[in-house]
Amino acid sequence: MTLSIRNIIPILKAQFQGDREVAIIDSVSIDSRSLQNGENTLFFALIGPNHDGHEYLSELLEQGVFNFVVQQVPDALVGKANFLIVENSLEALQTFAAKYRSNFTFPIIGITGSNGKTIVKEWLNFLLSPDYNIIRSPKSYNSQVGVPLSVLGINEKHNLGIFEAGISTVDEMVHLEKIIRPTIGILTNIGSAHDEGFHDAGEKIKEKLKLFPSVDVLILNKNRTIEAFLSPKVKTFTWSSDDGKADVFVMANEKPDQTELRITYQKQCFKVVIPFSDQASIENAIHCLMLMLYLQYDEAVIQARMQQLYPVEMRLKVKNGIHNTRIIDDSYSSDFQSLKIALDFLESQKQYKKKTLILSDIFQSGLSNDELYAQVSFLIVTNQINRVIAIGPTISGYQRKFPNGMAFPTTQAFLDVMDTIPFANETVLIKGARHFHFEEIVTALEEKTHETVLEINLNAISHNLNFYKSKLQPDTKLMVMVKAFSYGNGGYEIAKLLAHHKVDYLGVAFADEGIALKQAGIELPIMVMNPESTSYQSLIQHGLEPEIYSLKGLNAFVKLAEEKRLKHFPIHIKLDTGMHRLGFMEADMPQLIARLQQTQAVEVKSILSHLAASDSMAFVDFTLDQIKLYKTLSEQLMEALQIQPIRHILNTSGISNFGQAQFDMVRLGIGLYGVSNDEDEQKLLEQVATLKSIISQIRVIETGESVGYSRRFMAERLTRVATVPIGYADGISRHWGNGHGYVTIKNKKAPILGSVCMDMLMVDVTDIDCKEGNEVIIFGKDPSVMHMAKVLGTIPYEIMTSISQRVKRIFYRE
Ligand SMILES: *Cc1c(COP(=O)(O)O)cnc(C)c1O
Repeated sequence: MTLSIRNIIPILKAQFQGDREVAIIDSVSIDSRSLQNGENTLFFALIGPNHDGHEYLSELLEQGVFNFVVQQVPDALVGKANFLIVENSLEALQTFAAKYRSNFTFPIIGITGSNGKTIVKEWLNFLLSPDYNIIRSPKSYNSQVGVPLSVLGINEKHNLGIFEAGISTVDEMVHLEKIIRPTIGILTNIGSAHDEGFHDAGEKIKEKLKLFPSVDVLILNKNRTIEAFLSPKVKTFTWSSDDGKADVFVMANEKPDQTELRITYQKQCFKVVIPFSDQASIENAIHCLMLMLYLQYDEAVIQARMQQLYPVEMRLKVKNGIHNTRIIDDSYSSDFQSLKIALDFLESQKQYKKKTLILSDIFQSGLSNDELYAQVSFLIVTNQINRVIAIGPTISGYQRKFPNGMAFPTTQAFLDVMDTIPFANETVLIKGARHFHFEEIVTALEEKTHETVLEINLNAISHNLNFYKSKLQPDTKLMVMVKAFSYGNGGYEIAKLLAHHKVDYLGVAFADEGIALKQAGIELPIMVMNPESTSYQSLIQHGLEPEIYSLKGLNAFVKLAEEKRLKHFPIHIKLDTGMHRLGFMEADMPQLIARLQQTQAVEVKSILSHLAASDSMAFVDFTLDQIKLYKTLSEQLMEALQIQPIRHILNTSGISNFGQAQFDMVRLGIGLYGVSNDEDEQKLLEQVATLKSIISQIRVIETGESVGYSRRFMAERLTRVATVPIGYADGISRHWGNGHGYVTIKNKKAPILGSVCMDMLMVDVTDIDCKEGNEVIIFGKDPSVMHMAKVLGTIPYEIMTSISQRVKRIFYRE
């Protein structure tokens, strides 16, 4: 794409403010964190319910971005850049993408439906790529924002497009249709699940079908209800397993690890084998098969290619690696679009300055190799990658184009010498096309721990943050509590995400926790709630802000600050209004005021207190008294010292139940991690953490035999017992054993047999079709941490923070 601002203005019907209409644009961006933003980037400042791209404009300007699509120009930036002012920047992005799309006339496949969109898209890409230069939506970019960004990746060399469209409510699909303008449609299915965004199933069907008004053909599972909503002008190509009127009749014969599809089409019969046996995969594979039939592929080609279908991994995973490395595992795909996304992700997640990229040959760019690797090299340099390990016959020829480039013809050649290549204190992005088997590199570089992992969904954290933000007054500031390793979820990664979301403060319990965050590069101000006097020195050194809760502490800190000749060092004054844990009491006020009046070394940055029972409606009066006392005491302090500090008293359940007491800031804790004490609110949060393990071994025991220590479980029937490598040393309470608790395997409950051991527990899988190596959910969706807490007579906080540090944390984005 190369367009000048002058050409773009009329497309967007924008009002122009600036003096460089000749500026050339070759890419668009909506992400302020991307290092790919530059002088030829057109940045669209999008406004979401909880996010405003306009807030990042001055940062971007500093980084050299000069062209912006905005809804208004911030006062401070008038005259400093090119601004294209529009009424709605999302609509402008969509209009721009639609106009761009109209330059191309090759076939475009548009996929929608309730499930399977991304898998069908990825599989079709795999099945058709030997014959086409394909552009497809990267990952699951199927939203109002994702679709335009996907379409803007098209170039002159592509000759087939595959784009997915996802909607959550009415009137969304028309926008996506204008941008994708598919010539071939695929409707994967219409789920029966209740969708909040739609009145009823009929409305949902009608809306989804709006992707297809002008396709040459629509591929779908034959269904009278759906067809009744379809305009007779739309030509269909249908399949069915029970309706003989469908164009293609498919019988599936499932075996344990594969399925034989018997296909009858145009009076011919043939068989196709796919390496899956679950219903969803079978349905997805049939949609791919239908498309191949429509494109008139030979039986033999269809058979050969479909046999090689593979599980699709859509997530980028972050893992701990050897010698203090962080690994970003994207070992299942390699195309130019997804490389750009992975590099952005690397930048947002990098913990170390040093960045290594391990990259395989890239396929289907549509470009010649020289053009492609010149672009890849440019991308790598812009992203400040320090070292590139290029693996594959083609990419290795371009070694000298990469910073500190090393080259290997095959993955094995690299693995053979990997021991001699240093990896330490760096972030490593591993990105390769499937057949390079980069998962072997991931395994080799991964820190060796046991198979139990705690998976943290970063999207869910953003969702929960936005949920609580939406409850705040426009000027209320937000402190997020990341103490105890972010309630057991992970320190740095979560703090980094919060920094991006521009929260105002972080809160930790001890100086060490704050120091670790500062050393990892977190720049947000951090309040330390329990600063021991021995840590004051390092606290000052790292710019951490202590909570001061006693005269003794205040005297000691002021003394040190004065010795160091500090001026106005920020401190936070804690008042005890009823919690009776830490803080100045009403009677301490005169002495507190007197001491603060005598010094310039410290400054009261904020005054806080903590509610003892904000989660309980039984103590409303007590809480209101606490709030009242807090107001009185803080005003007393403010008046005596003539200061305007930040005032805050609410924790998560305070935000939910006592919204009128937000003062200047709130302190969000458990809610961020997806736990609420209110059942209705709980439904609106997303679950963040899933604790997973695997089955190590399975055995069958006879009636009357026992399982585990002290023979606490006695089999009353022939029992299949699975052993899972997680125990109380990992943080699973012993009270969860002996008939109280369960794990989930293959979506079924497997009760824990006997006592939980130190490193293992045993479960009953008599009625579950599972094998060794299968995944085991210890907690997550089911059982939820809330349920476990109830059974164990404790609170979710304790369960979450008990998970031992020997359990590996893995962070991912959907
Ligand atoms: C932990 C903590 C919070 C957060 O509490 P949640 O109930 O997790 O929201 C707020 N303030 C103080 C002083 C805390 O110690």
